Amino acid sequence: MSDTKQATVALIPGVDQRPEISKVDIPQLERGAMLAEIQAATLCGTDIHLWHSAGKSMPYVPGHESCGIIVAKNGERFDVTGEPVEIGDRVIWAYPFCGECFYCTVANQPTMCPNALRFGREPVAVYPHLLGGCATHQYVPPRSSVIKVPKEVPSELAASAACALRTIMHGFERLGRVPAHETAVVQGTGPVGLYALAVAKSRGFKRVLSIGAPATRVAVATEWGADATLNIDEMPARQDRIQWVLDHTGGIGADVVIQCAGNVAVPEGLEMVRAGGRYLSIGEGGGTTDIGVSPRAVSVKMLNIIGVRSGAGRHFYEALQFLQSGKFPFSDLITGTYKLENIADAFNGMKAMTEVKAAILPNW
Ligand SMILES: [Zn+2]
Ligand SMILES: [Zn+2]
Repeated sequence: MSDTKQATVALIPGVDQRPEISKVDIPQLERGAMLAEIQAATLCGTDIHLWHSAGKSMPYVPGHESCGIIVAKNGERFDVTGEPVEIGDRVIWAYPFCGECFYCTVANQPTMCPNALRFGREPVAVYPHLLGGCATHQYVPPRSSVIKVPKEVPSELAASAACALRTIMHGFERLGRVPAHETAVVQGTGPVGLYALAVAKSRGFKRVLSIGAPATRVAVATEWGADATLNIDEMPARQDRIQWVLDHTGGIGADVVIQCAGNVAVPEGLEMVRAGGRYLSIGEGGGTTDIGVSPRAVSVKMLNIIGVRSGAGRHFYEALQFLQSGKFPFSDLITGTYKLENIADAFNGMKAMTEVKAAILPNW
């Protein structure tokens, strides 16, 4: 057991309120639980969304993407490959699914588990208190799948694998086989869009087109090998963007469109897909307003629309293996690193989109 008695945490005190620094007692570890000393916690759009909306669980410790070193454990634990997890191992871990509900068992879709604990949004007052990454320590629940981080992968990138990249790996699993003639369009040049571009490039698409903004992020897409890019700031009319995709696909549209830009991108994305093509919808942001899609557009175009949410242990593992490959300059995504006490600056940078991904280093 670690002899640490208290963790230093960031707390979101209320909707849109400035994060505060506080101390929380390290909880007793139930059987199978572990305690991680956080090396890096990265922020994503979900953190900003929760900041604006998670009223009932406040105050909470933010951060659902974290990488830490195991400093205490109660009983034996094993990683997703069956290796024992030891004190000193650097790991990431999945949301704990209940393993007993309809989704966990019959449907074999554990990311839909209604009993899953989701990090970075649980009230700090409720045991085990330390369920957010923006803290010196985080509690690793007994049912969380644990994945060891390869030494080549920096902690900030490993943390980002615990959200954006694992969801993309899950999405590509649901997308299935990619014939060598196919063209993909990726909507979005945020962290999810850029990771999706990298995975698409490595999955055998003949060409991958990238649509996003601002220019700095579009430039990253080019650097990562996008075969053509469209800067939305330079082409604000939706119909022009659809025409751009048609022009790049012999007039038929893309075989696959991958949505990493939020709900607002869906209607035009569905028009960018060729008849009989697939639409993989990953981004969740942008509200839940009516997106005005005609059901006829789905039937007559024979579209296959594929949604994806979160990921299970194997997707985290796959994400880390992909990062270890070093095939892309992944560190481009981490645009700012912050000490825990400066977390408000990190949140504001994410909100203003001056950061692609901000990393909090709580033990810096
Ligand atoms: Zn379940
Ligand atoms: Zn996230």
